[in-house]
Amino acid sequence: MATLPIYVSLSSEGLFTSPVNATPVDYAKIYPDPESEKAIMGSVVYCIHHKEGCQWSDELRKLKAHLNTCKHDAVLCAAQCGAMIPRVLMQDHLRYTCPRRRANCEHCGKEFSGSALEEHQGNCGHEPVYCENKCGAKVQRRHTQQHVQQHCSKRLVPCRHCGQRYTQDTVSAHGAMCSRAPVPCPQRCLAAPARDELDAHLRDHCPSGSVLCTYKDAGCRFKGTRQALERHTEESSQQHLALVSALATRQARQLESLRSAVARLSVNYTGALVWRISDWAAKMAEAKCKDGVELVSPAFYTSQYGYKLQASLFLNGNGAGEASHMSVYIKILPGEYDALLRWPFAHTVSFTLFDQSSSPDRACNIVESFVPDPTWKNFQRPSKEPDALGFGFPRFVSHEMLKKRNFVKDDVMFLRVKVDPSKIVAV
Ligand SMILES: [Zn+2]
Ligand SMILES: [Zn+2]
Ligand SMILES: [Zn+2]
Ligand SMILES: [Zn+2]
Ligand SMILES: [Zn+2]
Ligand SMILES: [Zn+2]
Ligand SMILES: [Zn+2]
Repeated sequence: MATLPIYVSLSSEGLFTSPVNATPVDYAKIYPDPESEKAIMGSVVYCIHHKEGCQWSDELRKLKAHLNTCKHDAVLCAAQCGAMIPRVLMQDHLRYTCPRRRANCEHCGKEFSGSALEEHQGNCGHEPVYCENKCGAKVQRRHTQQHVQQHCSKRLVPCRHCGQRYTQDTVSAHGAMCSRAPVPCPQRCLAAPARDELDAHLRDHCPSGSVLCTYKDAGCRFKGTRQALERHTEESSQQHLALVSALATRQARQLESLRSAVARLSVNYTGALVWRISDWAAKMAEAKCKDGVELVSPAFYTSQYGYKLQASLFLNGNGAGEASHMSVYIKILPGEYDALLRWPFAHTVSFTLFDQSSSPDRACNIVESFVPDPTWKNFQRPSKEPDALGFGFPRFVSHEMLKKRNFVKDDVMFLRVKVDPSKIVAV
């Protein structure tokens, strides 16, 4: 009979089971014949742990004895935790996984039973854990609270200058810019003003800053500390007074030259003056009761660099026109460009008295003009003292004519003096 080994397995109750459907095999039922049983028990089989690596192979009847020593066969845990453990794994089980093993916590070193150790792990106060503020530090679990409150670089601390809260690792960078942080005075006084008060300190309070004398605009050149300035101001009142007085004199001169510049700018350069004579009745009355009452017009230039002229008017007449006519004259005044001009003055001058009648077609102006006589001394270049006499018309308009027409209206009279502008400048 062939002795090929067959596979059988052992159930948890210690019965052989059929490898096909795992139901217990009752040999007495299959093989009631003791001879057959004898034959079966004599057949050669592998150890039921053949697949796990046991190489044992012998008659079936010796299998049970082999299993008592087979290192792959499971037996009750030696520490009586109740687990069935293959003999070959027993040592590992007892050391690492048996709940009844004894073991020390790798962090605190305390000894625990296996199940207690599993509970202890994750709670051990000595186990290093990462800080929950993500500062990167690892501290023993029992010290985490202290770390978060006292040492963690991510804990919030108040800036000691402004009181705002910053994480501990940024508060000093903030402090370097904090507007309330004290900064040393750049003028090296002993004060340390807050950064946002430094400007005011330098401007108004710094005892070391040099300041200028209050009279600097008057010319005082003093420069010194605030204290020295106080002393200087007390001691220098005489000097300051002199400076202010000199300044006033300078300014008066400037004012004068400005005045004359303004006067120059307002001078008429057109060569034609329209002279407005207001308060006419009062002026006429005055002229009638006083001798030689002369009205003079504003001075005007014949052109920008031309002759300087002035008209004069005797309302009650003079010379041949006295008491019957209004006389009108032109005078040549000393001008700024006389040196460049052609002499004697040779331009035609005309006088126009405007008729202010409300209907223009009925208006009748009076016009008189003359070409200067080159031999007449009034037309020579004037000296510094202008000639009192002018040249013109003693009998310009009669008083009768003045009454007839509207030469005076609203107590105002207009007289135009016009110079022919051609060929005035000699150079
Ligand atoms: Zn075995
Ligand atoms: Zn165990
Ligand atoms: Zn521990
Ligand atoms: Zn931390
Ligand atoms: Zn701050
Ligand atoms: Zn200072
Ligand atoms: Zn001063």
